Amino acid sequence: MRAAVLGATGLVGRTFVRLLQGHPWFKIEALVASERSAGRRYGELVEDAPEEFKDIEVVSLGEFLSEPNVDIAFNALPASISREVEEKLAEQIPVFTNARSHRYDDDVPILVPEVNPEHMKLIEVQREKRGWDGFIVTNPNCSTAILTVSLAPLREFGIRRIHVATMQAISGAGFSGLSAFTIQDNVIPLIEGEEWKIENESRKILGSLEGDRIKPASFEVSAIATRVPVLHGHTEAVFIELERGSVEDIREAFRSFDPLRKLDLPSYERPLVYTDVPQPRLHRDRGRGLTVTVGRLEESGSAFKYVVTGHNLVRGAAGGSVLNAELAKRLGHI
Ligand code: NAP
Repeated sequence: MRAAVLGATGLVGRTFVRLLQGHPWFKIEALVASERSAGRRYGELVEDAPEEFKDIEVVSLGEFLSEPNVDIAFNALPASISREVEEKLAEQIPVFTNARSHRYDDDVPILVPEVNPEHMKLIEVQREKRGWDGFIVTNPNCSTAILTVSLAPLREFGIRRIHVATMQAISGAGFSGLSAFTIQDNVIPLIEGEEWKIENESRKILGSLEGDRIKPASFEVSAIATRVPVLHGHTEAVFIELERGSVEDIREAFRSFDPLRKLDLPSYERPLVYTDVPQPRLHRDRGRGLTVTVGRLEESGSAFKYVVTGHNLVRGAAGGSVLNAELAKRLGHI
């Protein structure tokens, strides 16, 4: 399928380009960015661009939208301009997006393929309701993606309450997100809007599909989000209350979690690995960035605590989107 990457010069866009290199199903035909980048070679704008894309001319969003000429779009544009762009494209083609613009629409799934693949059925609700040939599938914000992969194997123990404190990497704020002066030698315990997203997106993702909408999970999620001087890889300290289960049961559930192996998706990697002491610099690239690493599991009063770390640009953004597209194709929605 001919693919476009929107926002191809940004941090998530670059990750899409790298992951789609040599992809057996999706072939990049258009690299889209702002007027600032339009008309220039991709290799001029992105110093470590893969060889095969270096000479492609970046097109402006306006020019691309006037005649999209692709079969599928991967979106890494800012949310402020994504809503209209995604709706226009979805009239014709599937759109897999990292922007939050449609995440909270009733007929749009927030999808983490290993966690809630059944929510993909909303695509057909969406098509019918909106009269589109295409559709929109979103993935969650980066820290929610990493968190929900670690929560999925724990559903069988009855989740009652989750408290989480994140330590998020600088690249989560985009290419020009934070000045060196702000983040060097520092921790910033405020990421605008992030806590609301973690609390609400994870309840939608872990919710159940009832008719034509998702009923969010009823447990409480409470988050505090911090930015730390790590380049890539978000780490999260999780405190979870469960209805039943022991440390041994939970560790075994983490270790055996491998739900989509049989679908043989081209980018699929084991989603979760248990390691005693997870750390972003050591573990973010596990499974080409798609595997999250969980560890430090212990009982803590009436709850359990553990640490999870994962690559924000791969598992938390572009890699999750590519897996979503592969799942949609495998399940026959494309
Ligand atoms: P970024 O590094 O700032 O990149 C933004 C991209 O959008 C660039 O390619 C930029 O092109 C393009 N762009 C900006 N304004 C535009 C306009 N008016 N018209 C056309 N193109 C425009 O941002 P990012 O971190 O990659 O994030 C991209 C999206 O993914 C955002 O919606 C973000 O919230 C979401 N997301 C990010 C992460 C993460 O870890 N960073 C994780 C999950 C989701 P130019 O280079 O030409 O300016």
